[in-house]
Amino acid sequence: MKNTYGLNPVLLSNLQGKKETFWANGELKPFSPGESDGIIDAEQRLSRFAPYLKKAFPETGETDGIIESPIRYLPRMQEMLQDHFQTNIPGRLMLKCDNQLPIAGSIKARGGIYEVLKLAETLALKHNLIQKTDDYSKIASSTFKDFFSQFSIAVGSTGNLALSIGTIGAALGFNVTVHMSQEAKQWKKDLLREKGVRVVEHENDFSYAVEEGRNQCMTDETCYFIDDENSKDLFMGYAVAALRLKKQFEQEGIKVDQHHPLIAYLPCGVGGGPGGVTYGLKHVFGDHVHCYFAEPVNSPCMLLGLSSGMHEAISVQDIGLSNRTEADGLAVGRPSALAGKMVQELLNGVFTVSDENLYKMLALLHESESISLEPSALAGMIGPAMPQIREHLKTLSVTGNQLSGATHLVWATGGNLVPESIMKDYITKGKSFL
Ligand SMILES: *Cc1c(COP(=O)(O)O)cnc(C)c1O
Repeated sequence: MKNTYGLNPVLLSNLQGKKETFWANGELKPFSPGESDGIIDAEQRLSRFAPYLKKAFPETGETDGIIESPIRYLPRMQEMLQDHFQTNIPGRLMLKCDNQLPIAGSIKARGGIYEVLKLAETLALKHNLIQKTDDYSKIASSTFKDFFSQFSIAVGSTGNLALSIGTIGAALGFNVTVHMSQEAKQWKKDLLREKGVRVVEHENDFSYAVEEGRNQCMTDETCYFIDDENSKDLFMGYAVAALRLKKQFEQEGIKVDQHHPLIAYLPCGVGGGPGGVTYGLKHVFGDHVHCYFAEPVNSPCMLLGLSSGMHEAISVQDIGLSNRTEADGLAVGRPSALAGKMVQELLNGVFTVSDENLYKMLALLHESESISLEPSALAGMIGPAMPQIREHLKTLSVTGNQLSGATHLVWATGGNLVPESIMKDYITKGKSFL
């Protein structure tokens, strides 16, 4: 090995061996509530746009134009996990169903849609077409569509961010170009083309697709680049999830306090989604929430970036990994610098999961709870069954007693738009591994 990047040799060798690995974050600090203006600002902007969303996307009518997903108890899945891994999961297992988020069917409906709405608002305010006190439903009119058609948006994506940006961008009237990395699924490209989005296919990975998007906008003043590797707006859009979750927990009578820790398991690609959610959760629940990221064994980019302290200056390819995984949403070789720096003192740790286990979890969840998710969205599911995490929590003074009052919240990040025949294949494949 030419360069070990200052990594612990055992950790490095486990990662290179594609073993499922747990890494505890030594930089975790007690939470100190700093400013939360960014989250509040994002939440208020989304409220201003609710009348628009309700009009342009009637599927958001039920929630009055607020893009939100339900939470669910998973009692049967909890039993299945216990049986399958021959372990005991103290506390209760729940799912945050971002697979059901309207408009985009994945967690990208939070950050992606938020950033496009912010762009639309900024342009409309600048050109005196709206005031912040207006009823934004008028943005669904042809006047606004014509106006936005003078501008373009570009983004690089493995699939789901493109679906989110493409759908909302095209609805508003923008010219959207999405640069898709090699693992992007055909059905996602087809769906985008149907919506009038320009889809450029690249035979290369995510970082390359992002670079192509960046280049496209470099020389064009009317082009806005959505930078999944560095966007504060995406990040804050994701963070709003925590404010909503707080309300949902209150409605359900679910406590989060010293005797009822909340443990969140978040699938991680470039890091913006799980990073934003973690940032929000810490602001809402402080040290009573414990966040763990989950990455595929071939794409542990955030684990590498954080454990080496090198952030975006290291990639999984640098340690000889392929970044090839069935979890297309997580097929990212180089982490977001912004997300890594924002969460480096907030995150408990990162674990990796094999593609085979993603498929197993997919089949188990379907069998036990009739919930269908895409492979990426299952990455966190193995977390509650991991003894290393219980051991790690002990080192943070979370006792067995406290764990029995815990809520394990697995973040389901996508799946609702997957065509039925493809979902069937996923389930069949998952069953074959059981
Ligand atoms: C994008 C995505 C994630 C992870 O979000 P990042 O911001 O890339 O870390 C997780 N699951 C699914 C299904 C996704 O599409």
